[in-house]
Amino acid sequence: MLLRTSTLLLRTLREDPADAELASHKLLVRAGFIRRAAPGGFTWLPLGLRVLKKVERIVREEMDAIGAQEVHFPALLPKEPYEATGRWEEYGPNLLRLKDRRGADFLLAPTHEEMFTLLVKDQCSSYKDLPLSLYQVQTKFRDEARPRAGLLRGREFVMKDSYSFDVDDAGLEKAYQRHREAYVRIFDRLGLEYVIVSAVSGAMGGSASEEFLHPSPQGEDTFVRSAGGYAANVEAVTTVAPEPVSWDDAPAAVVLDTPDTPTIESLVAVSNALHPRDDRPWEAADTLKNVIVLLRHPDGTAEPLAVGVPGDREVDTKRLEAAVSPAAVEPFDEAQFAQHPELVKGYIGPGGLGLRTTGEGETATTTGIRYLVDPRVAPGTAWVTGADQPGKHVFGLVAGRDFTADGTIDVAEVRDGDPAPDGSGPLETARGMEMGHIFQLGRKYAEALDLKVLDENGKLVTVTMGSYGVGVSRAVAAIAEAGHDELGLVWPRSVAPVDVHVVVAGKDAEVVAAGEKLAADLVAAGLDVLLDDRPRVSPGVKFKDAELVGVPTIVTLGKRLSEGVVEVRDRATGERADVAVDDAAQHLVALVRG
Ligand code: ATP
Ligand code: MG
Repeated sequence: MLLRTSTLLLRTLREDPADAELASHKLLVRAGFIRRAAPGGFTWLPLGLRVLKKVERIVREEMDAIGAQEVHFPALLPKEPYEATGRWEEYGPNLLRLKDRRGADFLLAPTHEEMFTLLVKDQCSSYKDLPLSLYQVQTKFRDEARPRAGLLRGREFVMKDSYSFDVDDAGLEKAYQRHREAYVRIFDRLGLEYVIVSAVSGAMGGSASEEFLHPSPQGEDTFVRSAGGYAANVEAVTTVAPEPVSWDDAPAAVVLDTPDTPTIESLVAVSNALHPRDDRPWEAADTLKNVIVLLRHPDGTAEPLAVGVPGDREVDTKRLEAAVSPAAVEPFDEAQFAQHPELVKGYIGPGGLGLRTTGEGETATTTGIRYLVDPRVAPGTAWVTGADQPGKHVFGLVAGRDFTADGTIDVAEVRDGDPAPDGSGPLETARGMEMGHIFQLGRKYAEALDLKVLDENGKLVTVTMGSYGVGVSRAVAAIAEAGHDELGLVWPRSVAPVDVHVVVAGKDAEVVAAGEKLAADLVAAGLDVLLDDRPRVSPGVKFKDAELVGVPTIVTLGKRLSEGVVEVRDRATGERADVAVDDAAQHLVALVRG
């Protein structure tokens, strides 16, 4: 395949687009790969589309290799299947809902579990029809709150989604492992560094789910890892709860005036001055901070929730959102406080939440506000916390003796140095981009949509499913972000828009003819070539464009052609080699074929 710069729709820009923050976004626009067409929507120009198609091809090859079969669904779908699974509401504002001319409800699909489930229900009736894995490469729609960073977070984006169908858990496990291995090969071939992190907290007892994260400071996800091999998305990290301790010798709790304690630090200082502990000084981690939020359930109802965390940690919004999903988290504002006069702002303690133990282990709940605490608030631990009166704190309030929460919630921020839950050492936090997600769904969708098949004994059994996604358009941006320099894009061979960029750096007829011949020879050998054959463009501009576009191998035919030499340059390393023009085609083919 030969592309000629003279006729190609390629308009490189010297200036960064104003709306772009990330290098990948700026360079993909400047190098003429994409153009913004809508908020969160991009037009793929010829070079960009070639990269996208190459990523798609790698994904398809690896899906086909594990026996998954490609199908293609509409993106515009009726509401009913999504209503049956509850997702019409649960998906929240990210779901693009619309009406047709008759007023019927439709959506632009953000993901397709329902449709695949219904397809298999329609086509399969026996265990003999399974196992089955199906996939599609398709445009997905999500009304993202902050479509940013170009292709990394679009409102319209390309995803490969696949779904596995099995009669039993062992089958699902096998399908999951096969997908996992296929994803490893996909990201290896894309040349994209990745970490496989667990995405479901063990404490929640969820089914297996892992994400393929590309470590990058530009990523929107936070993950943790330990030297001993533990790796998890921050939402999935579980806290090691301390062992319960006896409160037999614990002194009674005391309420004291604590004016001028606006910060945790000042509260700790006052605690050690007014009511020192016997064993050691009070620390920030001994204070119990109670945060109230409003949960908005998918059906529209709201519920206040109190969350108790050690005062040296904030509540991590992402962990909280994940823990209460599908409910959304809203702030507990002044109007809400006005409805709950028993809550003394700044001094909220378990007592004010109505959870002071009344004796005999019974708890009196007066406010009706659900109170969940960090796992570190283990039975027998003593706390400094609000006394539910203005200007007063309570010291030595013992969990289990003086109050009992409604349960635990693991949503405090995770820090560098926290212990890994599996004992594999201290955790280190880092940022990453979610490139893929594999998920053992189990029977949730099959149950909701009544997908059953006859098993070997002629008994109807509910099918168990997995769902697996790769962000195809996101991968293009992630590769661009990972592999650029100050001159422009630097593509790995596996997804480069073409194999070789031939630059004709001279007006002489011999130079032009040699460029044409080299390009033709390369194309004849099966390579894809971009030939910069623009007659009235200076060599300097051509070199700049070649650097910006980022094809891995750049060949220049210029002054030294008279000596029979062309220059072959490696875009990634900058290394240059002189090659005899007569050997150039052979040399380049060998280089590209590796
Ligand atoms: P995120 O947490 O980044 O919003 P997600 O967990 O909602 O992603 P999934 O539903 O797991 O995404 O979708 C599968 C894959 O699709 C993701 O791993 C990601 O690579 C890609 N993806 C998701 N949302 C977008 C988007 N808005 N733009 C581009 N790619 C996306
Ligand atoms: Mg995901």
